[in-house]
Amino acid sequence: MNSESDYAMLIDGKRVATGQGTCGVTNPATGEEIARVPDCSDEQLDEAIAAARAAFPAWSALDLNERRARLVAFAEAILAQTAPLARLLTQEQGKPLHEAEREVMGCAGWLKGVCALDLPEEVNEDTETRLSVTQRVPLGVVGAIVPWNFPLLLAMFKIGPALVTGNTMVLKPSPFTPLTTLRMAELSRGILPDGVLNVICGEDRLGPAMTAHPGVDKISFTGSTATGRRVMGSSAATLKRVTLELGGNDAAIVLPDADVERIAPDLFWAAFRNNGQICIATKRLYVHRSVYPRLKEALVAYARTVRLGDGTEQGVGLGPLNNKPQFDRVRDLLEDSRAQGHSFLFEAAGDVPANGYFVPVTLIDNPPEEARIVQEEQFGPVLPILVYEDVEEAIARANASEYGLGCSIWGSDEEAAAAVAARIQSGTVWINETQYLSPFASFGGWKQSGVGTEGGREGLVEYTVPRTIVRRRASA
Ligand code: NAD
Repeated sequence: MNSESDYAMLIDGKRVATGQGTCGVTNPATGEEIARVPDCSDEQLDEAIAAARAAFPAWSALDLNERRARLVAFAEAILAQTAPLARLLTQEQGKPLHEAEREVMGCAGWLKGVCALDLPEEVNEDTETRLSVTQRVPLGVVGAIVPWNFPLLLAMFKIGPALVTGNTMVLKPSPFTPLTTLRMAELSRGILPDGVLNVICGEDRLGPAMTAHPGVDKISFTGSTATGRRVMGSSAATLKRVTLELGGNDAAIVLPDADVERIAPDLFWAAFRNNGQICIATKRLYVHRSVYPRLKEALVAYARTVRLGDGTEQGVGLGPLNNKPQFDRVRDLLEDSRAQGHSFLFEAAGDVPANGYFVPVTLIDNPPEEARIVQEEQFGPVLPILVYEDVEEAIARANASEYGLGCSIWGSDEEAAAAVAARIQSGTVWINETQYLSPFASFGGWKQSGVGTEGGREGLVEYTVPRTIVRRRASA
């Protein structure tokens, strides 16, 4: 069955509104289908990869400053469409409008930031006998696979460094959130040469088709650890390079000298922004016994002020979860906690909308360390608050995880907090803040949270291969 959609894939610079069928996209605040998008066929995937391959020689040969200029123009085109893109993002993802605007603007800002980075040639040896330099050259075609929690920003974490270093790309958004990405892709038409950025969409089966495809040189994947393992396995057959940005179970450690009343709102949003659907959301909050009662009280008082609802409504601080599987998963964790007899410190009561995937903010009071809600990545608005007796114990518990993505340390004595940070096994540790990311700093996971990094110089390196040129001097 072929049917035309308002939303089109971008293949070789052309709008492609028909696939092998269509897939529905649901507004998580209402549970209603809001659009249908093309379901990319295997032949269309081949065409997108062939287009990216054909565009590669000219794009990679372009002067770096010309590539930068085109990408900055793309960033400006996105910025100019902030309001409609943000509205669409709220409708398909669920986050409140102000958060959606932040994501659109952050995505454009990230692209501009990446364009300021450089990978100059490195001189290894410069003697009378020999000149040896190492250049970083682009890999070719990058297959980018993105989840549904920050569809635009996470796509841009890949588009920026891949394209500025001279690669071309085939990008696949999550089947839950393809709409804003398809609109963003349309904005690149006429700015980027045809075939440099191709965006396809469809069901999950497209992911494995990309990772197995011999025409793709590198996979840049963001998503769950379970899928990351499959991506790495599938990429092995063709020895593709992989960057894997995976799940996390971030701890926050509140030290005894922390000003808990002051930091309570920051800790609340660290755990609950985007309903906890952030890879680097605080998912376990470790609090020293001496400040535990005061912090609990401050968190509950703050939680009462946050309104849950449709993200397009004024004054809403938290929207719905993004999709039914995630909604079911978070409710399953809550039921498990209830069945285990955990103490529920706070459950947002009252006006939880009847339709859509809404789960009220829930704080769980000191559940056992081995509880599922502590050990698993909840990716939802449920936070276990855990008491610790001494800092050694808090560090050990924070590190006792298969994950190692992020962590935050909170205390008045910055140096003492930094000493704790230096012992944390995670890709990023924040002190007295959290979730701050920058295009100029590397970001990635330890242990099962990922392989490789995004951001900063190291993030650029991931999209290149080193080529060392060794020149013997004629005079030698
Ligand atoms: P997911 O792994 O289910 O899906 C991610 C993407 O992979 C989607 O586009 C999906 O269609 C695709 N996919 C599914 N099966 C595939 C396969 N076999 N091969 C290739 N691609 C496949 O993840 P999700 O539920 O969309 O996202 C939530 C997860 O992502 C959480 O675990 C979260 O922590 C993680 N995440 C990590 C980061 C980070 O930077 N480390 C950022 C955001 C989200």
